[in-house]
Amino acid sequence: MAEIIDGKLVTQVTRKKTAEMTARFKELTGVTPGLAVILVGDDPASAVYVRNKHKGCLDIGMNSFQIEYPKETTEEELLSKIKELNEDENVHGILVQLPLPKHINEDNVINAISPLKDVDAFHPENVGKILIGKYDFLPCTPAGVMELLAFYNIDIEGKECVVLGRSNIVGKPMSLLLLQKNGTVTVCHSRTKNLADITRRADILVVAIGKADFVTADMVKEGAVVIDVGINRKPDGKLTGDVDFNSVKEKASFITPVPGGVGPMTITMLLANTLTAAQKQVKIY
Ligand code: NDP
Repeated sequence: MAEIIDGKLVTQVTRKKTAEMTARFKELTGVTPGLAVILVGDDPASAVYVRNKHKGCLDIGMNSFQIEYPKETTEEELLSKIKELNEDENVHGILVQLPLPKHINEDNVINAISPLKDVDAFHPENVGKILIGKYDFLPCTPAGVMELLAFYNIDIEGKECVVLGRSNIVGKPMSLLLLQKNGTVTVCHSRTKNLADITRRADILVVAIGKADFVTADMVKEGAVVIDVGINRKPDGKLTGDVDFNSVKEKASFITPVPGGVGPMTITMLLANTLTAAQKQVKIY
């Protein structure tokens, strides 16, 4: 029976540390780290994420600037706001909530954010830095997974790590972070053949595909560490991950639940990135 990785506990500990470092930063510099979050349109899930980010900032003593635009907003208007925020000394981190309405080109928007303020780490300059292992920010969800592994003293070096999913937001950066910690990494995706043969090799299996309860016990090695990034809503409205938690927990050594595993860590790492951004921008550091 697996030990359950408690994302809420790790979130509490990590946020407390970030709050203390934020207080110290404010004392030393007189500057309050500030995060600007832009929401375009009225997607209810995005609105919840933005509200949680706002609350997260206030809770740990940071400034939060919430900017909401109607869904008809043009790309030009959005880019002009980003330019203004890039130049605003009170704003150290900028995040544009994705997905954007279809008429706005996401790449243009991501590229417009100053890499120094890109606390999501989606800008190509920051992605490149991650690839070579010399980064300022890590994308929040994979960074959150690494925090969870570290908190539970789960060693990565020399381990067979399998990442299921290759998105730019989760799967690809996740695989790079595991590689940097000397894991032997395999990345699987929708065209992978004999998937279960590969996932069964994993000492550490990270799943991020967006398919409810997809990974079943027969796909997992006895004693594996199983990290479930997926968030799926079932017809009854409840949340579930990409891993069939009840069967896999009997076989794994560690497992993250959904909700309460990786999910809470994402905003926690965003707050940590905002503090890092402020430290990089304020001259005494
Ligand atoms: P994407 O849809 O961008 O990517 C999904 C990936 O899974 C793709 O690489 C796709 O392969 C692969 N995939 C899909 N179906 C299969 C399959 N049957 N077998 C093998 N691989 C498959 O999703 P994201 O990476 O953005 O998100 C993944 C999940 O994580 C979602 O549930 C999302 O809600 C959740 N998430 C959770 C976060 C958190 O804070 N906890 C943050 C971000 C995401 P291919 O490339 O070939 O299409």
